[in-house]
Amino acid sequence: MAVLVLGGAGYIGSHTVYALCEAGREVVVVDNLETGHQEAVHEKAAFYQGDISDTAFLHHVLRRESIDGVIHFAAYSIVAESMRNPLKYYENNVCKTKKMLEVLLESGVQDVVFSSTAAVYGEPNRVPISEQDPTEPTNPYGATKLAMEQMFRWVANTGNLRFVSLRYFNACGAHQDGKIGEAHPTETHLIPLLLQVANGKRDAVAVFGCDYPTQDGTCVRDYIHVADLADAHILALDYLKDGGKSDIFNLGNGVGFSVKEVIEAARRVTGHAIPVQISERREGDPARLVASSQKAKNVLGWKPRYHQLEEMVETAWRWHRRHPEGY
Ligand code: UDP
Repeated sequence: MAVLVLGGAGYIGSHTVYALCEAGREVVVVDNLETGHQEAVHEKAAFYQGDISDTAFLHHVLRRESIDGVIHFAAYSIVAESMRNPLKYYENNVCKTKKMLEVLLESGVQDVVFSSTAAVYGEPNRVPISEQDPTEPTNPYGATKLAMEQMFRWVANTGNLRFVSLRYFNACGAHQDGKIGEAHPTETHLIPLLLQVANGKRDAVAVFGCDYPTQDGTCVRDYIHVADLADAHILALDYLKDGGKSDIFNLGNGVGFSVKEVIEAARRVTGHAIPVQISERREGDPARLVASSQKAKNVLGWKPRYHQLEEMVETAWRWHRRHPEGY
């Protein structure tokens, strides 16, 4: 039996496919390659190019392959774009997931693990954030992920499906070997932007606000290595297979680093001065996001391996240095 990975050619999806293949699991990847890269898909995985909303295509894949669990990454994830074009996000993240779920229910596939995000919380009342804390997204990206969670919850309530939703904090880093990494058509994330400066691909990085109520005035985020996220997906699928009930888990390190601390780490790792410019706050950016991941540790037995910021940036740098143009 194989695991079907939807969006398995994207950043976190491709790392999860690698982890599954390296663990000797059988893997089938579906990706429309709109933002993903076929080169990122592990050679041992079967690959089908197509869209999750194409029900005939998805039925075809499910008839050809023996699938007993799904990991669903296929979604848009750029906050600023979601602010400009919310309906694009509702269509892609919510409507397409609904169509995909209909196919799964018709095919009798019952276990689904899927990507959610810290963006479902919005501006938190307290940190570390736990799964029971209020969910009040401040952008359409977070709102669509919350809508997906609610859709899964109600479908699971009928008894025909079990799901685990994983709320990632700030995913970063790359595979140890530097074979795969983060490569978006439009880069918006802090660590890859800093490494692109070190690589000579851009001149400087803007720091979005230095007047936040934090230790040095810049935003604090919880950075979690993509290989640790990959492990959590496999544990979550095994948890469902062992009869675990549908549930939601935060995935973070439980430690916050400021934008300035990330810049210093990138300077140390790359040996490059990495010029920065202080600029305006970015709309919808909370001052501090730090996860409590105790529940994932207790229930799933998740043990993140990367805790040091430099270690995480180092793996990302290995990828960027070897692949300055991406895939
Ligand atoms: N950030 C920044 N300059 C950039 C990109 C990001 O100062 O060019 C900051 C951003 O305000 C946030 C942190 O870096 O506090 C991480 O942002 P990123 O976009 O990587 O992830 P997010 O927190 O939005 O998921």
